[in-house]
Amino acid sequence: VISPRAILRKLFLVDIFTGLAVTLRYYFSRKVTVQFPEQVLEPPERFRGLIRLYRDERGEPLCIACKACQRACGQGCFVAIEGVREEGRKTPKPVVFDWRLDRCSFCGLCTLVCPTDAIRNSNEYLLTASGREACFFRHDEMYLTGDDLQEFFRKERP
Ligand code: SF4
Ligand code: SF4
Repeated sequence: VISPRAILRKLFLVDIFTGLAVTLRYYFSRKVTVQFPEQVLEPPERFRGLIRLYRDERGEPLCIACKACQRACGQGCFVAIEGVREEGRKTPKPVVFDWRLDRCSFCGLCTLVCPTDAIRNSNEYLLTASGREACFFRHDEMYLTGDDLQEFFRKERP
């Protein structure tokens, strides 16, 4: 037995108008969809993106090749780190720094143990590589960000 209330609802198309009201409300409300890739979101401050090396204000590497990050990483991302001590410099400078993105879980452990804050999680998250080889970074490539990083990922490899 259909209740009189249900009959009235059907008669005055209440459900249809309720649905239309919802549609109209969303049509005029603020859009939350991001039109990627034309529009790219800035990640939050604590976002753990691609691991990058950093330099000081004079452009000198902050890394002193102490290998603490290599020891902390449980994934074996740091394949090789070697440093040299140049004349007039108190700390060694990295000359070899081979790092593999394809093994990284973005845990951030390496950044926690670094004594000079040389290695950090950047806010880079556009990490589409053309193959495994494109995930292998050498020392100079560990500083790439933004467009330079995208170019690195797109680079043809033998
Ligand atoms: S973020 Fe974690 S997995 Fe990635 S390199 Fe650092 S320690 Fe290794
Ligand atoms: S990045 Fe930091 S922890 Fe890793 S070798 Fe350089 S100074 Fe040491």
